[in-house]
Amino acid sequence: AGSLQGTHNFTEAPARYYSSEPSLQEAEENGFKGHSMLAPFTAGWQSTDLHPLVIERSEGSYVYDINGKKYIDALAGLWCTALGGNEPRLVKAATEQLSKLPFYHSFWNRTTKPSLDLANEILSMFTARQMGKVFFTNSGSEANDSQVKLVWYYNNALGRPNKKKFIARSKSYHGSTLIAASLSGLPALHQKFDLPAPFVLHTDCPHYWRFRLPDETEEEFSTRLANNLENLILKEGPDTIAAFIAEPVMGAGGVILPPKTYFEKIQAVLKKYEILLIADEVITAFGRLGTMFGCDMYNIKPDLVSIAKALSSAYMPIGAILVSPEITDVIYSQSNKLGSFAHGFTYSGHPVSCAVALETLKIYNERNIIEHVNKIAPRFQEGIKAFSGSPIVGEIRGQGLILGTEFVDNKSPNDPFPSDWGVGSIFGAECEKRGMLIRVAGDSIMLSPPLIMTPEEVEEIISKFGHALKATEERIAELK
Ligand code: PLP
Repeated sequence: AGSLQGTHNFTEAPARYYSSEPSLQEAEENGFKGHSMLAPFTAGWQSTDLHPLVIERSEGSYVYDINGKKYIDALAGLWCTALGGNEPRLVKAATEQLSKLPFYHSFWNRTTKPSLDLANEILSMFTARQMGKVFFTNSGSEANDSQVKLVWYYNNALGRPNKKKFIARSKSYHGSTLIAASLSGLPALHQKFDLPAPFVLHTDCPHYWRFRLPDETEEEFSTRLANNLENLILKEGPDTIAAFIAEPVMGAGGVILPPKTYFEKIQAVLKKYEILLIADEVITAFGRLGTMFGCDMYNIKPDLVSIAKALSSAYMPIGAILVSPEITDVIYSQSNKLGSFAHGFTYSGHPVSCAVALETLKIYNERNIIEHVNKIAPRFQEGIKAFSGSPIVGEIRGQGLILGTEFVDNKSPNDPFPSDWGVGSIFGAECEKRGMLIRVAGDSIMLSPPLIMTPEEVEEIISKFGHALKATEERIAELK
């Protein structure tokens, strides 16, 4: 106890201080029985006195652990509980649906009313371009896996059997099933998993601050990246490239915003070579950036879109893909020939998940969530960005209610702190001590709080961020 465990890879949980927390023995006395669980993106519980932070209940923008400690949930669970922790209307929607029809499937031309209504509602809310149909999944990873199958099916139907490769971007995160992990551009998701699959190629991460050349403007940087993409396509052969997938703002890779003119230039290249564009809006959909979708913010005209997370404010697992009318037509004519479109999950369009999602979308509209985000986001962004002058901060970046901070030495992207110092983890632990939960990945940290935050809660995050930063600066001064 009292030591800081330096776990700071993407795959590992942020390190935590245990000095102010109960021992494992105390945790066990409180009912902790976590050692049977192989936990996602976690390492090392069994071999040390580390024990997980066990969250027991939630209320608004806060969660409480089993010891009653209160935390402001500055990551909204995993970028997902947009409506916070205890929205009674979502509980009511779930219980009513459970009482009426807890389950029926959507295979073979059978389905349920909540799934039909939800598909209509999603299409009416997505206005960046007209979309044709919605396909339901249980998660963002399944949505992206389904995208790949759909695109292959589409190109096979069009008699283009070689047009099968996908281009994704370095540092992207698209999920952790085999294909979604392959699309992701984070080494930890590939190492020791025999990934990425060979049909996936990765192009540049559009992080201007980190990857620009000296004196390069944002626009020039975007031009260079679009040229690199075009060169990759030409090298591989345009006839072999099926689709390009991108998050409008990269989330788990560190909250990386597209540089000026980026999507305009990338879309021009894709169009030239008949390459489909998939917008992975799993984090950005439903107001996170201050627009209903990320595609609205960056004038993206996708062929396919993946959504999940805030679709149900995470109260029930659900994801979906939006399919353009052109692709829908091709899929329909092909599946009519073959007998059916043979893809789907038992829980595609689960009625309880769909009922909760429908109510979630209704709440976003009724409470004008976009207006609320735009009311609180400027103070959130400006309040945290005011810490940019800290000697250990390289860049603070964000948009709407999503924000990332990168810790470096000498304010330079080329001067990382020694990785065994675990600077990101120190900061994460300092936040946790002060009752704030964030995301740590290496020396990048991320915030993505509930959209329903009050101005006072925004102030609380800013204040806790500032105090945790000061403590981290002091710790680094000691380490130096
Ligand atoms: N795509 C993006 C952009 C994500 O951020 C995530 C999860 O964080 C996923 C896909 C995967 O979603 P899930 O964890 O629901 O499978």
